[in-house]
Formats: sequence, C-alpha cells, structure tokens
Amino acid sequence: MKNECYIVRDLLPSYIDHLCSEESSRFVEQHITTCQQCTEYLNQMRGEFDIQEQPEISDRIEQKKPFLKVSHFFNAQKTFTKLIGISFWVGLIVTVGFFIYSLSILSDLDDGREEMQIIEQHKQDIMEKTFAVLSTQDNIDEKALQSIFQEYGGELEHLAVFSTENIDDVTRLKGGPTNIFPIDYSKAVLVIGENGKVTETIIPSDYDIGTVAMANDQWIVQYEYQDSYLGTIENAHQIKHYAPSTWTVFQLPIVFIIITTFILGGWLIQKRITKPVKNILD
Ligand SMILES: [Zn+2]
Repeated sequence: MKNECYIVRDLLPSYIDHLCSEESSRFVEQHITTCQQCTEYLNQMRGEFDIQEQPEISDRIEQKKPFLKVSHFFNAQKTFTKLIGISFWVGLIVTVGFFIYSLSILSDLDDGREEMQIIEQHKQDIMEKTFAVLSTQDNIDEKALQSIFQEYGGELEHLAVFSTENIDDVTRLKGGPTNIFPIDYSKAVLVIGENGKVTETIIPSDYDIGTVAMANDQWIVQYEYQDSYLGTIENAHQIKHYAPSTWTVFQLPIVFIIITTFILGGWLIQKRITKPVKNILD
C-alpha cells in the first residue's frame, strides 16, 4: 500500500457519504482508477454501508407500526364522529319538518272543531226556535218557520214538520237533534224551502249525515242541509268521531326528538373521545 492509499482510505467514509470537497473527491476517484486494492476496499465499504442501513430502515418501519395502527384507529374514529354528526343534523331537520307538519294538522283540526261547534250550536238553535213556534200555535205559523229557515238560509235545503201521530219509532228522536235517514217528506204537515212552502214531491236524500231530526210529544222537526254545505258537515262529522288526539298528531315528531337527542348525546361523547388527539391527526 502506498502512502496515498492511507490518505484515500481515511477519506473514503466521507466520500461515500458525499461529504468530501470537490478536490478530495477528485483525488479519491483518480486514485481508485489506478489502485485495485483501494477499489476493492471501497466496494467492500459500500456493501457494508448498505447492509448496515437496510436493517435500520426496517427497524424504523417496525417502530412506526404501532403508531400507524393508532393513527388508523383514530382516523376511523374521526369518520365515525363525522357520520354521527351528519345523522344528528339530518335527524334535526326531519324532526323540525314533522313538527311543522303536525302543527299544520293541529291547526286544521282546530278550524274543523270550531266549525263543528258552530254546526252543533245551530242544531240546538234551529230545533229550539222551531219547537218554540210549534208549541205556541195550534195551527202552524208558516211565516215564523219561514223566518227561521231564512236565518239559516246558507245551510238549509228543507225544514219540515211532522205530526208524531203519522210516524212510527219516534222515541229515538226525543233525546235531541239526531242525524238520520230522512223521514219521507210526503208525510210532513209542512215543508219550508227557499221559496216558502214546498208543495212538489221531495226525493229524500239517502245520506244519513245530511239530515237532522228531533221530536217532542206532538211534533217532529226535520231539516236537511244544502248540498253545498255537506262538505262542511262531513268534515265536522269526521272530526267529531274520528279526530286524532293532540298526542297522536305529535307522536312522530316526539319519537324523532327522542332519537335525535340520543344521536346528539352519542355525538358529544364521541367528540370528547377524539378531541385530545384531534390536533395531532389534523
Ligand atoms: Zn491505493
């Protein structure tokens, strides 16, 4: 080995790591082209370096593995938190939607109930007024009945008076105004219509909701609604007998409020779990 060889070998580690100055590098390269021994030494060193570095890299990967697992876990947690968040907002929107819908149903029901009360009140009033006229008269006061009919002109088609003597099965009508299939108008003592006393034959309605009758010992009063008023009557009838309770109307929004509250709770808990690592992962 020449003296130069010792210098070159001192330089080799720095040369391999590209830490030499340009001049030193050139010196090493020139020497290597002429010195077989130093070339072999360089190759040997390079081989060792590679072997040394390889395990280092795989060591680092091994070291990183647990952290990667934790990172994956928390990323999954983050996605999960996001999903719960979205579910909460969707739930909230659906709840508000159902709530508004229920309020509109309730408002319709209130309107219907108001109408129903008016109809029920008119039933009582019409009967009371008509029987008042009948009880004070031996002969029926046609004009008085006509004025009662006019008072409810927007609602009534016919107002008829029967004698209980001509009609069977009067008992069921004595309790108060009752919706019935109309009693045959040909048996009536008097029928009042829009133009006063009705003399032509009336074809009775085949609809029990459209006719109301009531009886005392002597008389039966029966009136029939106008066709144009039947929709209102039907609506009121539906509400009177089949209207859902307020609780039923709000059942759906209440169920959704409960579900959404649970989702909100889960979301807040989940946010608290992921909060400490949020900044690290972002
Ligand atoms: Zn040499």
